[in-house]
Amino acid sequence: MRPFLRMTAGARFAAPLFYPAGFIIFKERKNLMKLILLGAPGAGKGTVAKQLTQLDGSVQISTGDILRGAVQAGTELGKQAKAYMDRGDLVPDELIMGIMEKRLQEPDCKKGFLLDGFPRTIPQAEALKVLLAKLGIKLDMAVNIDVPREVILDRLTTRRTCSNPKCQAIYNVKSMPPKQEGICDKCGSPVVQREDETEAAISHRLDTYNKKTAPLIGFYEKEGMLITVSATSSEAVIDAIKKKLAA
Ligand code: ADP
Repeated sequence: MRPFLRMTAGARFAAPLFYPAGFIIFKERKNLMKLILLGAPGAGKGTVAKQLTQLDGSVQISTGDILRGAVQAGTELGKQAKAYMDRGDLVPDELIMGIMEKRLQEPDCKKGFLLDGFPRTIPQAEALKVLLAKLGIKLDMAVNIDVPREVILDRLTTRRTCSNPKCQAIYNVKSMPPKQEGICDKCGSPVVQREDETEAAISHRLDTYNKKTAPLIGFYEKEGMLITVSATSSEAVIDAIKKKLAA
């Protein structure tokens, strides 16, 4: 399935080349997507990122997924991060920058990448700017997904996540339940409520977002890189991104 999806995605971002024999081939867009997805917890960054990767084969880099994988695997990073995550606090910037400095140099990032949940603080955004300059990487834009607080609260309390660290597919008990209750459609692992999705931790995560992450909207606006999309459907967000990339 994937090669076909990639071909159609290539076509979406490509200029057709006309050949004398009447064949049309599509030249894949060389300049692959490099985006930051901003938005409160539950705004849909993960869902949008997963759908965008299907379009052109770019990779989703979610610091939350990386950290949850490390916690489950019991690595040193996981041990250091767990208490912060369970409380709904941010993991210290140094730990996150250590992860990202390595991750952005892995070969799959050459296919383009979607940063989901990173950067999360002004110091992370500043460090990212320095890191990207060092690596010679230019971002296309930062997309601010703006969703009303009531929608976010409802989504987070009803969200369920695949417990397999390699999958972490997202479901919703109301709007997108797995076909078989509690079992992931994609990999068959149990689908669970995240430990930081209790009411107390959710409200703390939203406060942390407002204090520490929302200022990034102004940061990327000043950098001339921001688009804001006020939409609750991932399709509308993706359409806005595609329009902007094509402009
Ligand atoms: P959500 O966007 O739904 O809050 P994530 O999966 O992005 O969830 O993050 C889960 C938790 O992982 C956060 O509450 C935080 O503790 C930690 N985390 C993820 N990304 C970062 C980051 N860039 N900086 C600091 N902490 C992070």
